[in-house]
Amino acid sequence: MEDIAIALDISEVRTGSFDGFEGMLLTDQARSVGAILANTRRGLRRARFTIAHELGHFLLEHHVLSYETGFRCRAQDLRETRESRRHQKQETQANQFAIGLLAPVKAVDKYLSQDPDLRDAQQLRDALDVSLEACLRRLVERRPEPLAAIWSKDARVRYWHKSNDFPFIQLKQGDRLPQTTQAFRVHADSKSGFTAFLESPPMAWTSRDDIEIFEQTRLSPSGHAVTLLWADNEARDDVDEEADPYHHELSEPRFR
Ligand SMILES: [Zn+2]
Repeated sequence: MEDIAIALDISEVRTGSFDGFEGMLLTDQARSVGAILANTRRGLRRARFTIAHELGHFLLEHHVLSYETGFRCRAQDLRETRESRRHQKQETQANQFAIGLLAPVKAVDKYLSQDPDLRDAQQLRDALDVSLEACLRRLVERRPEPLAAIWSKDARVRYWHKSNDFPFIQLKQGDRLPQTTQAFRVHADSKSGFTAFLESPPMAWTSRDDIEIFEQTRLSPSGHAVTLLWADNEARDDVDEEADPYHHELSEPRFR
């Protein structure tokens, strides 16, 4: 990653343990100079992603500097996927650039199994040397099923990422995982490793009771866990339609 950055006119990449930011790009609006700092406190895989993210700010020349001498990016910026405000949009674009460089679609798709599985993200991590979190975000984006990934520590939600067709998730940062879920029991039992996919009460995660949700969790010995949710949005509707396959086209519009 450093070699790529240098080849693209970055003068210096410095890694180390820094306070208050994950990555920094020292530059000016015209990009006449560019130097990257990347924090290694969260590991070398994370630092590689950070370098790629800062390189994104450098190459995306329309990005407006976030402070007078360049870009200073925090941990939450490196997770940004929203596009509503300029700052968020720039961070989202830098993240898309970074993940495209580190985990190209062609390489990712080779590791996807028939059905969603957290193990695929772990294999991807080992093959591409990108963090498990970034690999899992990639998996959620690339797979056709409605999926969500929920990161938790000590049975409390840290953050989540979902595909557009996954229903709205009710849980906020700091909320306790619902006790009716397998994810909660995994934390309670502190047994590290992967679980199987189990059916989960949909109302524990969403406001919908008319769908089916399946959950799989991976717990690490440090108490960090990630849960993959797989929604079957059609589950209950199919039953209705099978009972009366032709009728609804002729009847009143159906409201849900
Ligand atoms: Zn940034």
